Amino acid sequence: DAAMYEAKARGRNRVALYAQAHADGASEQLRIEQGLRLAMQAGQLSLHWQPMLEMGSGRILGAEALLRWQHPQLGQVAPQRFIPVAEANGMICAIGAWVMEQACAQAAAWRAQGLGLVRVAVNVSVRQFEQDDVLGLVRHCLQRHALPAQCLELELTESLFAQSATLRGSLQALRDLGVRLALDDFGTGFSSLGQIVSLPIDRIKIDRSFVIELVDSHHSRAVVKSIIMLAQTLGMEITVEGVETLEQHDVLLALGAVEAQGWLYHRAMPAEELLRLLRAH
Ligand code: C2E
Ligand code: MG
Ligand code: MG
Ligand code: MG
Repeated sequence: DAAMYEAKARGRNRVALYAQAHADGASEQLRIEQGLRLAMQAGQLSLHWQPMLEMGSGRILGAEALLRWQHPQLGQVAPQRFIPVAEANGMICAIGAWVMEQACAQAAAWRAQGLGLVRVAVNVSVRQFEQDDVLGLVRHCLQRHALPAQCLELELTESLFAQSATLRGSLQALRDLGVRLALDDFGTGFSSLGQIVSLPIDRIKIDRSFVIELVDSHHSRAVVKSIIMLAQTLGMEITVEGVETLEQHDVLLALGAVEAQGWLYHRAMPAEELLRLLRAH
């Protein structure tokens, strides 16, 4: 009886511990969800910019807008934490519209200063295409800031291309507008090298996971080389993401890579910092 009682008590404790942990997780999720509703009006969201460089010359060819959220209690919340929440509750549409507007305004300002920044890249979630009028949003933002469509590149993930004909139609309409499309995180999804042939894209962004393996793995080097060669044949451009070391940089150059983005060169930074950098060039 005593043993039985003890086992039950242990079980109860375990259940209680689990429930507590679960509640903490849930409340954190809830805090993120509720906090996000206020974040935009409260001015807690901002864009940071990470340069994309021509590897040979170090010239800055463009910059990717990356969302930052400074939460009053939680501090900096990583996009990987809050973007999925925003996608799940639909808030990504309002947030994404804000990002597009800010990014186009910033791009127009840089252009007006004659800084020669060729393009800005904006991440767009699949949810935005499903639930919002991305074409209308982009058209509106470009017009409002008199920004040439060629200056704007949308970064999309592979799952978008597996979607309906309607979505594919709006991708084509965006390209007809002159906006450029990039396939982000290539290599992490399901599409094979063969499939990218038929995708309406201008650029492939090779995921960081390849770069990590590059130095030690002959296989990874072969894959990256094939992607670069195929892209060249198809007239697509390539950006390699997440270059952190000089060794990776050298291997990539030898494989024919032209453009890269990564901490070796620059982390994402506030707009003022990028402005200083562009001026110094
Ligand atoms: P992403 O679009 O693939 O962006 C690249 C991420 O890699 C960024 O993380 C960037 O800071 C990080 N990164 C760049 N170079 C290096 C490097 O050398 N080493 C390492 N370890 N990381 C590097 P970040 O800013 O945390 O963003 C994470 C993801 O959140 C983005 O991945 C993107 O999918 C999403 N995201 C960010 N901003 C937005 C946005 O405005 N809208 C949407 N829908 N998604 C966004
Ligand atoms: Mg991206
Ligand atoms: Mg990426
Ligand atoms: Mg990535």
